[in-house]
Amino acid sequence: MSIKELIENSNLNIDREKILFDEPMKKYTTFKVGGPAECLVKIESEEELKEILNFAKENNIKVHVVGNGSNLLVLDGGIKGITLLIRIEDVKISEEKPIEKTKKLGDDIQKTEEKGNPEKSNKYIVEVKSGTKIAKLGQILLSHEITGFEEISGIPGTIGGAVIMNAGAHGKEIKDIVKTVKCMDYSGKIEEFTNKDMKFEYRNSILKNSKYIVISVILELYKGNKEEILEKMNQYRNYRKEHQPIEYPSAGSTFKRGNDFITAKLIDEAGLKGYNIGDAEISTKHAGFVINKGNATAEDILKLIEHVKKVTYEKFGKELSLEIQIMGEKR
Ligand SMILES: Cc1cc2nc3c(=O)[nH]c(=O)nc-3n(C[C@H](O)[C@H](O)[C@H](O)COP(=O)(O)OP(=O)(O)OC[C@H]3O[C@@H](n4cnc5c(N)ncnc54)[C@H](O)[C@@H]3O)c2cc1C
Repeated sequence: MSIKELIENSNLNIDREKILFDEPMKKYTTFKVGGPAECLVKIESEEELKEILNFAKENNIKVHVVGNGSNLLVLDGGIKGITLLIRIEDVKISEEKPIEKTKKLGDDIQKTEEKGNPEKSNKYIVEVKSGTKIAKLGQILLSHEITGFEEISGIPGTIGGAVIMNAGAHGKEIKDIVKTVKCMDYSGKIEEFTNKDMKFEYRNSILKNSKYIVISVILELYKGNKEEILEKMNQYRNYRKEHQPIEYPSAGSTFKRGNDFITAKLIDEAGLKGYNIGDAEISTKHAGFVINKGNATAEDILKLIEHVKKVTYEKFGKELSLEIQIMGEKR
């Protein structure tokens, strides 16, 4: 039986309008590329997530997870199984009052207040559901005059995707502000990971390609000044506009940073800026970005990636590794 028939014959407790079949993934990725998802389910609550995971388990169906699709190359053959579009959204903010601590000084017990120390006082605990867009969270934090998220606020995507990828920009990564991450595993069990458990690394975490789905994240942030926060956010946004080809569909930096080289510079020095295969092109604005000039296929992009890897290796002996995630099957 097909997934469609299985769902039609089931008592799955998810609104049928949220379940789509043969849905083109180019609608759900910033690259605007990708074949159809056999079954795409828009998940808006923890209960729906549990329900669909149980269904997938009972019927032995493979599950894939998509946030905003900002770091994804979905292949032209599409995605078999069930693709979950995570749209569980909410933000809860609570202020942690400065703690009045008792501290032993010699034999004296002296009271010390942590007030006035920006690292220890005016702390905010922000609980964000995983499908919340980073940009939206940025605006909410700005309106509450909460600082510490400005660098991240311009990164496209959901908070769930950012945690999986340990997304970062302008010298800050999500790992710097994450306290805990709440997940559901593929059998519906809830588990909480501390920042340490997450084993964050450059564009990596323990949850990448795992059987855990991020449900919510707790961030630790601080009281700030609205004008200063806004100024920083604008400054970072303008930097992106100036340096990144945001006028074209892409998935951000295609390749990871090198250990001993700057990837975009290497690609530029290899003479590859503007090099194209079909509508897939190495951006002339930022050589680290592969862009879609219109109707690029995933195959065009893959061929271009292979060409870039080959040329940079032949010219400089450096191996490039992919930052973008590849999902689905070739046509
Ligand atoms: C123009 C542009 C600029 C960019 N600039 C930056 C940048 O400055 N810094 C940076 O780090 N990145 C950047 N990126 C890449 C991208 O924005 C980040 O990687 C972002 O964190 C991806 O989030 P997402 O929700 O779109 O995840 P997706 O692309 O949907 O998914 C990424 C990975 O996370 C998994 N995933 C997503 N959500 C969940 C979840 N809830 N639970 C479990 N797994 C999940 C997916 O399965 C996939 O493996 C840029 C992208 C674009 C298009």
